[in-house]
Amino acid sequence: MHTRLLHTDEIDEAAELLKRGELVAFPTETVYGLGGNGLDARSAEKIYAAKGRPSDNPLILHVASTEMLEDIAEEVPELAHTLMTEFWPGGLTLVLKKKSIVPDASTGGLTTVAVRMPAHPVALELIAACGFPLAAPSANKSGRPSPTRAEHVIEDLDGEIAAILNAGPTRIGMESTVLDLSGEHPAILRFGAVTEEELRNFIPNLQSPTDEQRKRAPGTRYRHYSPNAKVTIVPLGELPENHLEKEGRTAYIGYEPCDAAEKYHLENDARDYAKQLFALLRKADHDKVDHILVQAIDEAGLGAAVMDRLRRAAGQLN
Ligand code: AMP
Ligand code: MG
Repeated sequence: MHTRLLHTDEIDEAAELLKRGELVAFPTETVYGLGGNGLDARSAEKIYAAKGRPSDNPLILHVASTEMLEDIAEEVPELAHTLMTEFWPGGLTLVLKKKSIVPDASTGGLTTVAVRMPAHPVALELIAACGFPLAAPSANKSGRPSPTRAEHVIEDLDGEIAAILNAGPTRIGMESTVLDLSGEHPAILRFGAVTEEELRNFIPNLQSPTDEQRKRAPGTRYRHYSPNAKVTIVPLGELPENHLEKEGRTAYIGYEPCDAAEKYHLENDARDYAKQLFALLRKADHDKVDHILVQAIDEAGLGAAVMDRLRRAAGQLN
């Protein structure tokens, strides 16, 4: 299959492809998504096949209006309305009970559906032009770092999807926060663009997920975000130099100096890490290094999502 590279003035063409059941990667403010018709089981199956994603790892449905949300969610609790008013469009995904119109193929057989309204004008226009929600996991091969530029999508999926809608680098660079509102109590299933601190202003009793809730976010079980080179984290307060390997070439990502073969400087700031981390993990592979050494940052705010992704890239599953 030839993958077309579309520009932001070709949204209608992207929508036509999606209406025909094809896959189109599109920009959001978090990362690029691999879009397909979320109400069509065959489109969902194509997404799993293109990504090589385990079929029990459910997809997030992206909507352009609250009406579209009400078409797919059975119960929308008061708290969901409050959070939508506050954080939508934006990087917060809500897990709600699903309506039967949503095929099992999109939710990995779960009775719940994850929904988000992205804060990117191209994404919103595309979803509205389609008239149905777009199922869209990150547009990378399963296990690879998430794509924050159209070039990353090409790297992973060229020849396997109908088109990529290019709108340049994404603004945030971390995926959405996944919040379960379908269980006993609200719980964060994945840290992301909206911080725990921000959510606590509206959910003072925010607790850790129960085992049952954890089971319902299977995406968090798999090794993720991994470049080819081995990733090592420099813990807070330790010197990067002390973690250099004796053999092989190392790329170093951090805010303090370190004498490595390749050095990519980041500010000691979670937003800078979020924006650039995935792209730098991919760059390290292009630079043909054996090791990637990444300096840890404080876990406050967006730092929680950054460190979660880093631990997964380093193969430290929790
Ligand atoms: P990705 O599409 O790669 O950004 O990953 C989506 C994340 O949302 C994964 O961690 C999924 O496990 C999680 N997710 C999607 N749908 C649901 C759902 N219905 N219940 C719980 N978690 C979900
Ligand atoms: Mg992903």
